[in-house]
Order: sequence, then C-alpha cells, then structure tokens
Amino acid sequence: MNQKTVAVVGAGPAGLFAARALAEKDIKVALFNRDIRPGGLAEYGIYPEKHTLKIGLRRQFLNILEQENISYFGNVEIGENKDLSLSQLQAMGFQGILVTAGAQKIKELDLEGETLPRVYHAWEIVSRYNNLPPYSQIEYPLGKKVVIVGVGNVMADVARFLLQKGGVEEILAIARRGPAEIKFHETEFAHIAQNLDRSDFDAEMERVTPLMLKLGQDPNETWAFIEKACENCEERTSSTNLKLRFLKSPIRFIGDEKTGLQGVECVENTLIEENHSMKTVPTSLHTIFEADTAILAVGSSVDGEIGLPVLKDQFAISPYPDYPQDGISYELMYPDTQKNIPGIFVAGWSRLASYGLVGISGKDGSRGAQALYEYIDEKKKNSPDWKELEFQILNSKNAVINKKMMKQLFSIEAEIATKNHLAEYKFATNQEMLTALGLV
Ligand SMILES: Cc1cc2nc3c(=O)[nH]c(=O)nc-3n(C[C@H](O)[C@H](O)[C@H](O)COP(=O)(O)OP(=O)(O)OC[C@H]3O[C@@H](n4cnc5c(N)ncnc54)[C@H](O)[C@@H]3O)c2cc1C
Repeated sequence: MNQKTVAVVGAGPAGLFAARALAEKDIKVALFNRDIRPGGLAEYGIYPEKHTLKIGLRRQFLNILEQENISYFGNVEIGENKDLSLSQLQAMGFQGILVTAGAQKIKELDLEGETLPRVYHAWEIVSRYNNLPPYSQIEYPLGKKVVIVGVGNVMADVARFLLQKGGVEEILAIARRGPAEIKFHETEFAHIAQNLDRSDFDAEMERVTPLMLKLGQDPNETWAFIEKACENCEERTSSTNLKLRFLKSPIRFIGDEKTGLQGVECVENTLIEENHSMKTVPTSLHTIFEADTAILAVGSSVDGEIGLPVLKDQFAISPYPDYPQDGISYELMYPDTQKNIPGIFVAGWSRLASYGLVGISGKDGSRGAQALYEYIDEKKKNSPDWKELEFQILNSKNAVINKKMMKQLFSIEAEIATKNHLAEYKFATNQEMLTALGLV
C-alpha cells in the first residue's frame, strides 16, 4: 500500500481539524485519544450549560470522524510508560506525528501552601463538573470564601459554577494586572455580573484609576464593558458577593494541613509599559485576603510525560522551523543542542498552552497538519502496511475504542438523556462507558 500514513495524538479540536486536513489530502490518519470520547476540552472544558455549542461541535467532530481516511483509536494514551510511546509509533512506521494533546497538566505556581487542603487548580474543578474521568470521581470540598486567581474566561466559568452550586458567600477574583488587561469576554462575564458587588467594584476602580490614567488607559472603557455585561446579565439567584481585585499576585497560601486554607497573601503590583505590553512590577505592599478556598485559574501546562522536551509550561518549540506556516513554528527542538526534532510536530494548545477558543485551536490544528504534510511530502519515506499497524495498535491494550463504538456510546447516552428528560447525559467513568459498550 502506498498511502502515506501519519499519527495524530489527541482528538480535541486541534487534532480533529488536523486529521480532516490530512485526510482530505489522501493521507491515512491514525487518530489517538487518551479519553474515550473525542472532543477534548470542547467536551470536557466548555461550560456544561452551553448545550447548543457542545452539541453542534460534537456533530461536527463526528462528521470529521466519518472520513474513511481517519481511524479513531480512543482510550489509547501516548507517552513514556503509557499504552504506546512516540518512539514506538515511529518504529511502527508512521511517516510523521502531530501532537495535539492540548495542555492538560496542572500548572504549578510553586508557592508556599499551594498543596494545602482546599487549594485547587481550575482544571480540577472544571473537569469535575464536566464529568471527565477520573476527576469526575474526586470530591473537591469548597468553603464559603473563595479566592479565584486569574481573570480570564475560565475564572468566569468557575465563578458561574460556584454561583449555581450555592453555599458560597464571597468570590474574590484576583488580577495580576489592571482593569484594561482583563481577559474575560463580556458574554462570559454576563453569566456572573448579576452578583458583582457594585460599591466594592466602584471603590476598586477608584483605587486603580490614577495608575490607569498615568499609563494612558481609559477607565471609562472598563466601566462601559462592565455596564454592558451587567445590562445583559442573568437574574440574581444567590446572595454570593462577587468582587474583583486588580494589581495583585498571590505569593503564599496560608493555613495548615488540618484546617486547610485560611488566607491568601498577595503582593501589590504596579504596571510599566514595555515593548507595547504591560509588565507587572511587584511593590513592597502586601495584603492578606481571608479565604477558605482558592482556585487557580491561571492556565495549564503541556504534559512532559508524552515524551517531548518541555521548557516551563510549554513544549520546546523550535524558533527556526523548517516548515513554518504563516510565520509560525509547529516544530520542536532539543533544548540542549537547539536542533530541530525531525518528524514530530505540535499544534493547538500543545503548541501554545491555554491560548484561544475552539475555532482558533481548530485552525491551528489545520496549519500544523500542513507543516506535517510538507515534511512527509519532502522526506518520501516508505509507507507502512496499514493492516500490520492496526493490528499492533489494537493489541497495545484492551478496549481500544473505534468510530463505531463511539457512535454507539453517544446514542446510548442520548437515549438515557431522553428517558430522564435531561438536556444531555454523559457517563462519568471509563468503566461505565466500557460497560455500556459491552467491553468489560
Ligand atoms: C474551562 C474552559 C472553558 C472553555 N470554554 C470555551 C468555550 O466556551 N468556547 C470555546 O470556543 N472554547 C472554549 N475553551 C477553549 C477550547 O476548549 C480550546 O480552545 C480547545 O479545546 C483546545 O483544543 P486542543 O485540541 O488543542 O486541546 P484539547 O481540547 O485539550 O484536546 C486534547 C486532546 O488530547 C487528548 N490527549 C491528552 N493527552 C494525550 C495523550 N498522552 N495521548 C493521547 N491523547 C491525549 C485528550 O484526551 C484530548 O482529547 C475552553 C477551555 C477551557 C479550559
């Protein structure tokens, strides 16, 4: 068989769009996914109540999987000491590999007290409420005074969850920079704006206005943004007070193993403009916020266990790609020698952790696929025997999920949802999914 054959690792939006782009160029794609379900964070990150978006994406993803050139291998984790390693995939004869495994590792801040009880990473909370195994089975007790570190859309989602869950008196969202650098979108903030403590917000804006004016920023733009979100906000159904604090970075989580978190110590920052962006500079002022729960919504890290070099929270992206796409590098390098790693490409959140919505990640996947395509087109390696490859993959572990099983699982879940008058139903454990499919 002469058909070129590649492996795509990770079936989130980036991997699925990459697989489609490659399949359309008549490349045979083996799409590996650690989770049983495809979709990545579109399935397990996007807020559960965004049913229309989620159902639309699921349908689009299933359509992609319909392509004959794509074979889905769900429930197969790639990495060192996992079901298959990257070097095993290379040894099996894949002509190139695209890693689109997202950034699914907790990003540590390395602060004192970070492992205290009731200090969580947003990843854990989001995965819990979205039913991602194994987080779906872990309890994350929450207190009454919650500090969320970070002011992006994930903060807005987590705050939305806390408001709906109830029992929280105060949510304090802490921003490293100022109001002009807020990252959440107005539409996301509108889900929580009804609980914003307006007099507290006014006072906080007054506090930071002199710095904003000094930097040439317009506080009225922040007011207008917040006003609009408040106009479009939901009905207030809980007494939780939502507060925002700007120009603060956590430096220590205070508490002990027995009682858990009791406070979050922050340093006050100021801002200076450097190379057209705002850089934070810590001052000598410290504040301690009383809190019994902290949730770190500061993005996540790529997973080094996949077997690729990591620098800080990102894979080691080569600054000198051989196959750049629109000036972007989808290639990796060995950090020691700075030499490019041949034949392995990255895209989506694996290329740039925690960056962009589904559309952006999908596009990035397609561009990464183009880089991989140019590589295999140039190298002209021999194509492997597909039947032999498939045999090895299916024997790499029990219960490898294929497209047919996937569709069957979705229809079983849809039936349960209909029967119980639910907008959606999703099995919370791999065991349940495999049992429903008759595989265990
Ligand atoms: C809390 C949250 C809310 C969001 N809400 C929205 C929203 O409302 N709208 C929107 O457009 N975007 C939203 N996003 C962003 C969107 O989810 C991302 O842009 C997108 O999912 C990133 O795609 P990806 O394919 O790069 O990675 P991911 O979606 O993370 O997919 C990675 C895939 O790789 C698989 N994988 C991981 N490790 C391995 C391995 N070792 N071997 C094999 N497979 C592996 C995983 O199982 C997963 O399927 C949200 C993100 C978060 C975190």
